Amino acid sequence: MSSIFTKIIEGEIPCHKVAENEYCLAFMDINPVAEGHVLVVPKIEVDYFFDLSDETLARLMQFAKPIAKAIEAEVPCQRIGVTVLGLEVPHAHVHLVPLDERGLISFRKKFKTDHEQLAALAAKIAARLE
Ligand code: AMP
Repeated sequence: MSSIFTKIIEGEIPCHKVAENEYCLAFMDINPVAEGHVLVVPKIEVDYFFDLSDETLARLMQFAKPIAKAIEAEVPCQRIGVTVLGLEVPHAHVHLVPLDERGLISFRKKFKTDHEQLAALAAKIAARLE
């Protein structure tokens, strides 16, 4: 069975898309830990991040870089954290999360938001990538 991220990539499930290229997709995390929490996923479905090919890893991080800068420009924060953790979705992905002066954030504590706000922020971040 396809992962939920493959279903998003294939358009079977909606997402608040931020950016896409031939190899990767970035979209708003539906259950964010901070405002501006974005997931970056390779289109190839591989469960474990460190099983990705070197080429895919490089492509993913190069794709993530301008997105991180765009989030940073849009959301008040000190910088963007990049994290690989968790076991919820068996499809490799990185979390881009705005960090404030507290630095480390808890992935257990969620940021209250809704689809309208996520859609608006996705559009603003995407516009900064144009
Ligand atoms: P983890 O596998 O633990 O790194 O977490 C997976 C992340 O995917 C969590 O932060 C979820 O909130 C997020 N997530 C799960 N399903 C969706 C979805 N349909 N759209 C956007 N984000 C999702």
